[in-house]
Amino acid sequence: MFASTMQDVDLGVLHLFRHGRSVHANSTVITWGEDGPSTATYAEVAANADRLANALGSLGIGPNDRVGTFCWNNQHHLEAYLAVPSMGAVLHTLNIRLFPDQLAYVINHAQDKVLIVDASLAPLLAKVRSQLTTVEHIITVGDGEFDDLGPTLDYRQLLAECEPAFTYPTVPERSAAALCYTSGTTGDPKGVAYSQRSIFIHSFGVTGAQAMAFTEDERILLVVPMFHAMAWGMPYAGWMVGADLILPGPHLQAAPLAEIIESTRPTYSGAVPTVLNDLLHNRPDADLSSLREIICGGSAVPVSLMEAYDDTYQVTVTQAWGMTETSPLAAIARPPKRCPTDDAMQWRAKTGRTLPGVEIRICDDAGKVLPNDGQAQGEIEIRGPWITGHYVHDTAEEKFHDGWLRTGDVGTITAEGFMQITDRAKDVIKSGGEWISSVDLENLLMSHPDVREAAVIGIPDDRWDERPLACIVPSSGTNPEPTALRRHLETQVAKWWLPEQFSIIDEIPKTSVGKFDKKALRARHATGELSTIQT
Ligand code: ADP
Repeated sequence: MFASTMQDVDLGVLHLFRHGRSVHANSTVITWGEDGPSTATYAEVAANADRLANALGSLGIGPNDRVGTFCWNNQHHLEAYLAVPSMGAVLHTLNIRLFPDQLAYVINHAQDKVLIVDASLAPLLAKVRSQLTTVEHIITVGDGEFDDLGPTLDYRQLLAECEPAFTYPTVPERSAAALCYTSGTTGDPKGVAYSQRSIFIHSFGVTGAQAMAFTEDERILLVVPMFHAMAWGMPYAGWMVGADLILPGPHLQAAPLAEIIESTRPTYSGAVPTVLNDLLHNRPDADLSSLREIICGGSAVPVSLMEAYDDTYQVTVTQAWGMTETSPLAAIARPPKRCPTDDAMQWRAKTGRTLPGVEIRICDDAGKVLPNDGQAQGEIEIRGPWITGHYVHDTAEEKFHDGWLRTGDVGTITAEGFMQITDRAKDVIKSGGEWISSVDLENLLMSHPDVREAAVIGIPDDRWDERPLACIVPSSGTNPEPTALRRHLETQVAKWWLPEQFSIIDEIPKTSVGKFDKKALRARHATGELSTIQT
């Protein structure tokens, strides 16, 4: 080997943390708490992070120990994001919407020693307190009644007793920095441990000009929860460049969100389609003119949603794709260069092209690699420096293939690298041996003005094995006719794709991260709970 002459620096969260605090000390973090907004500078947040590191140290937290957070998006959550990995411990962001059993499972599985919990969420944690086998201390933030949690420590009091300076150790770049569990739609949740190095590199990926293109002028409204796949990398990437961060706390419903946007005037945001849909339907009059872009993903982003944001708010919604396992940002759907404006939507509707360093391919059921010709359809496999190589204490060999992660998403890739996801493997509808894309059908159904949300599931069929059932949530004040919806689809998809059966429902069940829960829909259909209309 011809050795490089470069300095050998372990990459990690501490570098991002230090850079933000020193170069951007006056940038701000606004938290929208119970009593409205409060603002802190980066310098103040960083000093608190130092105090937190001291406090955790005094509680016996050292390298590799796990510290769980059970918090909304707020300043102290950010302080934990900065302090915990920088001191060599591991930040475990707990999803506040997990079922109690799953919550207890992930805390015990991760062996969390300390938990930091928002006062408003303490009752949820109290439900599982007696099942927690490794937790030694619980730190509460805010006022509340915590008797059900046993002995607790108060965050602010703890920090007030600590020095705003900490001697951070050198942390090996391949050690774990943060831990997220998948939402476990099938089986127990699986742990993904991001390394110091992967978070550092991913942050650069996120800020890249072809990705979110953050600069210090950005004002980032973090709607996507910090407990969901590290808020898509935005807290670290934003901090690194000195962007102002706006943290909405529990205020994620359309009305308060619109108010926060109008008064804080963010330039950038990220949210799942359900949240954007909710805002659109409840506050079409909101002033979103400060936003240059909203990144959207977590499930396929309907074209109708992107068009509605163009028309209603003149705000670009850009589709991105990723998974907890991919840190999560892996691909983004930007039109190719010199694309005429009129053609842009066809590219925005795709799932996207990968970020540099991330590779994808498609494989058939037998594991054979298929061509990137935009036609061949198979499971997307992915690899790269911020893609998980295995799960925490779980071999799950079936999830990997020759060093690539099997995503469980089915789709196509063009020669130019544009990926189009047609389904999740577990949601595909196989009719007469051929795949029907539920994502395509949902997209088209949601482009009908009377359809607010549509989820298409496969239901058993004697002749074809499976046929699509379209579950429809009507737009308010409308009463969509299944035959009209079928006619709407007729001109746009092959005849054998057309659902014969429709179910008009009030709401589509959602998972803990706000996605359509098709497993729940299939179960409701199996037990005869869904009333269907035959067209
Ligand atoms: P979970 O797997 O528990 O739902 P994740 O947030 O890790 O939690 O979900 C990742 C999955 O979300 C991907 O595998 C994919 O199925 C889906 N997804 C994310 N973004 C998109 C997108 N833009 N289009 C289609 N599916 C998406």
